[in-house]
Amino acid sequence: MFDYAVVGGGIGGVLASALLSHVGKEVILFEALDYLGGCAGTFKKKDFYYNAGAATFVGAEEHMPVGKIAKYLGVDLPIKPIDPALVFYVDGKPINRWKEPEKALEEIKTAFPGIDHGSFWKRVYQVSSSMWNMWCDSLPYPSFITPIKSFLNHPKDFLSTFFCNFFSAKRVAKIYLGSFNSDYELFLSHHTLITAQAFLEDVPFSVASLGFTYPNLTNYYVVGGMGKLLESFAEKVKHVSMKTRVKAIRKKSWGFILETNRGNYEAKRVILNTTIWKAGDLIEELKDFSQRAKRRYSNLWGAFTIYMTVEGEIPKGFAHHHLILLKEPIPYTGSKSLFVSISEEQDPMLSKNNTRSITVSTHTRLELWEGLSKEEYAEKKEKATEYCLKILQEYLPFLGNLKKIQVLSGTPRTFERYTGRYRGSVGGIPITKDNFPFGYPSPLTPVEGVYLVGDTVFPGQGWPGVSMGVINLLKFIERDVKVC
Ligand SMILES: Cc1cc2nc3c(=O)[nH]c(=O)nc-3n(C[C@H](O)[C@H](O)[C@H](O)COP(=O)(O)OP(=O)(O)OC[C@H]3O[C@@H](n4cnc5c(N)ncnc54)[C@H](O)[C@@H]3O)c2cc1C
Repeated sequence: MFDYAVVGGGIGGVLASALLSHVGKEVILFEALDYLGGCAGTFKKKDFYYNAGAATFVGAEEHMPVGKIAKYLGVDLPIKPIDPALVFYVDGKPINRWKEPEKALEEIKTAFPGIDHGSFWKRVYQVSSSMWNMWCDSLPYPSFITPIKSFLNHPKDFLSTFFCNFFSAKRVAKIYLGSFNSDYELFLSHHTLITAQAFLEDVPFSVASLGFTYPNLTNYYVVGGMGKLLESFAEKVKHVSMKTRVKAIRKKSWGFILETNRGNYEAKRVILNTTIWKAGDLIEELKDFSQRAKRRYSNLWGAFTIYMTVEGEIPKGFAHHHLILLKEPIPYTGSKSLFVSISEEQDPMLSKNNTRSITVSTHTRLELWEGLSKEEYAEKKEKATEYCLKILQEYLPFLGNLKKIQVLSGTPRTFERYTGRYRGSVGGIPITKDNFPFGYPSPLTPVEGVYLVGDTVFPGQGWPGVSMGVINLLKFIERDVKVC
């Protein structure tokens, strides 16, 4: 009988398991695949490794969510800082997103002349720094006490950001910037798209400020692939059962029976690192709960991805991450951007034998990949790959001279097949005015003893969001865990 059974070894499941194990709980972590990390994992195909999705990493400083967890657990992370965090390409021109705010602003001013950027970005930096000052005190969520606690502990930060939760980033940008052209809007909107999964007009200014300043946090390169971070945290968990898919969970008066492909297990409590929509597939009593979530949170993204191993010369000092913005949507995905991440030359896993591992991703609507015959699907996937590779070559011409050793592509169907995500949706629930600050799913479910972690519960996606979500859950259920 375990104290906790954790279903899924994504960021949420691994961090929750590590923290609970640290305070003496008997925990078993089940992961269906042969690697940890899910969307933030690193997979192997024919001797070559690739980051499956997540490639950028922030939040490791001691006052930030992952940093606090790592310090609490005494885990050393295999990371090194990078600057610029990423390079945007707008109208073909590169814009380095430097860490230092003044330097970053100079670059933006040069790229978008004739706009009075100063007061807008000053407000952005102010709001994001206030939001980060308050993050620990804004947990647990949802709770009536939390806003009062935030106010009492950080009155200035609370008051200066409060109304920013109720206005869209686009509205606030217009107030500060006057009218701004479509290129600038595309630039701002893609900061919110990659962090909050929604565009400028839908994201509250408070949340958007965190997205605009993501490059101003310390961004890190993860040596050996994103999966190494998960492995570092998982070392703290005594019972990790890989290649173990939980098929059903039955509620009993004393706890739960988990049926897996490797037999049955018993636990007093269960933490699901599956999406909120999938909880009902595992637990009969959560069927209605998941159905309601499907209706309530239906505007979801998928990803189209390309994974490449290349051999040859990449310019020295070339940045790791590039976000190419396009005037027209990519016909097969509907997205106007491509995110490209390149492994560093010395990486012992991703860049073996003079090769480099490249992960390319772009948002796509799920419907575009549904209801296709096998032939239609294969053809669409091939054409989307060709189209994206053509764009890449245009923007990063040196790629044309590299030998392509392996090229794979993934669609929402691929994510569904491997990570089990509902319809292959990724990136969690967009953080929009409709659901933020009130109405974002909490980690608690209607079944006592069953909880959720991951990017479909507050405060959402990525390393910073999911790790905060784990701390949030544990504030409700295990007060012994004192991360913050
Ligand atoms: C293309 C792409 C790019 C991204 N880029 C970034 C980025 O640069 N930086 C960043 O911070 N974030 C990024 N993200 C977002 C980030 O990867 C996710 O928000 C985060 O990894 C989600 O974590 P999670 O805890 O919800 O778990 P998931 O990633 O959903 O993992 C869940 C795990 O549970 C397992 N599982 C599911 N069902 C079962 C079952 N029944 N039994 C056993 N195991 C099961 C799955 O195999 C999987 O390993 C990106 C995502 C994508 C798709």
